[in-house]
Amino acid sequence: MRDAHETAWRRSSALGCDRRTLVAGMAAMLASAWPGGRAQATALTPLRIGAATVETASDGTLSSSLAFMLPDAKQAEVEAAFRAEGQPAEASPIPTNASLVRVGREVILIDAGSGSSFQPTAGKLGEALERRDVPREAITTVVFTHAHPDHLWGAIDDFDDSERFPNARYVVPAAEWDFWTRDDVETLVPDWLKGFAVGSRRILRRLEAKVERRKPGEAIAPGLTYVATPGHTPGHASVLVEAGREQVLIGGDALSHAVISFRRPAWAFGSDLDRDLAIRTRLALLDRLANERATLVGFHLPGSGIGRVERSGDAYRFVPA
Ligand SMILES: [Zn+2]
Repeated sequence: MRDAHETAWRRSSALGCDRRTLVAGMAAMLASAWPGGRAQATALTPLRIGAATVETASDGTLSSSLAFMLPDAKQAEVEAAFRAEGQPAEASPIPTNASLVRVGREVILIDAGSGSSFQPTAGKLGEALERRDVPREAITTVVFTHAHPDHLWGAIDDFDDSERFPNARYVVPAAEWDFWTRDDVETLVPDWLKGFAVGSRRILRRLEAKVERRKPGEAIAPGLTYVATPGHTPGHASVLVEAGREQVLIGGDALSHAVISFRRPAWAFGSDLDRDLAIRTRLALLDRLANERATLVGFHLPGSGIGRVERSGDAYRFVPA
């Protein structure tokens, strides 16, 4: 997958294709390699946290390979990790759960999905919101955990460059903004990410007039703050929704795989930009979530993405709600 992915990028770059052609080609390639699954229904009753409610809405599914996700792991160890969860050691369609937080008059979307031209099985968030009677125009704030395509690109319509959430302000982690808007960002990421980095820079700059940059600990909205969870990307931040002693952590991609991130959190993960930092972040986050019995919402975790972290032997497990 990775080789093919890189080859596709180089070939398209060499031909000077525009971004839409490149992405469409990549999406077609991915689709032919890994037929994806259906979007999962996430019809749970919203969680209530003080005056806020938290629920998730699916953007569809994504495809990747275990070889890409686990570049350093031995096949036998991978199989053992999956077997311990009663699952076959194979890549399955990856869920994508954006979060919707309502508090007061605010209707806050956390991550915007990937839009229509990333992978054909994704880009379904608008329909999922419609099913909840939440038109795109009702979103008052879009908060990003990080600037990868599957979280950011859905903010802009690929075909007419319009904003999909026209009445929203946008909140971006300050360190994430600083990294992805650099003129040389594509020189700072691995080959598979270079095209995506150019796309993410373009979209952040497109939104710039309505972007608010926030550091960890600074308020995003009533009861919502960023928590620094770097490593997956330099400025990756989770969103803590808090009321008294109740906490929900919307963790973006800090814990991104239902089996590996919990059972083998110290393994290098292929899509993490700084793999050592991502491991330290994962271990600290798992310890905290298990100790505090806080609710976790993971963008790529199964079902609705909502659950808890429990200790299991010398590691952890994700327990869906
Ligand atoms: Zn992601």
